[in-house]
Amino acid sequence: MNEEKFIDWGFPVDQIFLAAGPCSAESEEQVLETARALADGGVGFLRAGIWKPRTRPGSFEGVGRRGLAWMDRARRETGLKIGTEVAEPAHVEACLEYGLDILWIGARTSTNPFSVQAIADALKGTDVPVLVKNPMTADIGLWIGAIERLAHAGLTKLGAIHRGFSSPLEMRYRNAPNWKVPIELKRHLPELPLICDPSHICGKADLIHIVAQEAMDLLFDGLMVEVHPDPPSALSDAAQQLTPVQFISMVRHLELSHEQSESPVFLNRMSGLRDSVDELDSQLLSLLGQRMDIVQEMGRLKTKQGISTLQPHRWQEIIDDRIAKGTRLNLSEDFVLQLMQSIHEEAIRKQEVERVEGAGLD
Ligand code: PEP
Ligand code: MN
Repeated sequence: MNEEKFIDWGFPVDQIFLAAGPCSAESEEQVLETARALADGGVGFLRAGIWKPRTRPGSFEGVGRRGLAWMDRARRETGLKIGTEVAEPAHVEACLEYGLDILWIGARTSTNPFSVQAIADALKGTDVPVLVKNPMTADIGLWIGAIERLAHAGLTKLGAIHRGFSSPLEMRYRNAPNWKVPIELKRHLPELPLICDPSHICGKADLIHIVAQEAMDLLFDGLMVEVHPDPPSALSDAAQQLTPVQFISMVRHLELSHEQSESPVFLNRMSGLRDSVDELDSQLLSLLGQRMDIVQEMGRLKTKQGISTLQPHRWQEIIDDRIAKGTRLNLSEDFVLQLMQSIHEEAIRKQEVERVEGAGLD
């Protein structure tokens, strides 16, 4: 994994970066108890929310700067590094005063470029490590933009945290993992450390190990997990926090993946399978090209007849038919629906181009 990046940051990292701690600092005793248990379990980094951006006002909104003093004490006593979320310049100032080892920008804040810029301005002249959580919606440009604002302010120790995306459709998880977005971020910024926060993705303690393992399988560089000495009594996010013992046991059971293998048998077999996939992808693209040519021809006919581009009945038939066929081929309904929606969107775009060109409007 990307050990060197973190050694630069001065963190003790054993293969992966691990941060754990309560959603919110609630009392000095709670912070110290968590820190001691984590330090005994070999975790190097304590997280705790001090200012809590809650969805509804009136929920517990954090203990404020006195929590920083508790974290500082935990650091002195246990040797753990400490970090918290900042959402505005005043938070940054308080954290710099207490010499926090790392800061992160939460999902609600990274959604707003004005706030990110204000934080970046407040951090100018320092080089505190800052992790940027993905915005609430799956907007990769906004996520990258937040990272760029910090980089332009001269910060060099940057990383990203994937915490899932709010979605009205998602049932299993609190926030949809939508893995293609962090994978795309890694493609754009391959050197940027990428950390997963399975707690906010899952929303439930018993799912966390599944998402944490998935993140390892996708070559994430580390995890940030919510850990509380007594989760049911937590003042925020009670359902998703693990006890220190559960967390340490989960970490011990994680299987770490590597991108490359030296095994000749594996390499040989993979190379054969990759050739097959390459060939099938070529066929898929060629078929899609042919399908689009036909769609364009249909567009010309529709224009001549003066009928609409969108044909709702036909579209419903296509969806029903393709999902039924896909299911017989072991393809999930969600996947087939998304695939057909993408194809249909492009078909509509092409037909609209035909319409505009046909009308001589371009
Ligand atoms: C948190 O880490 O406690 C938090 C509020 O996270 P997010 O910004 O991902 O919701
Ligand atoms: Mn939380």
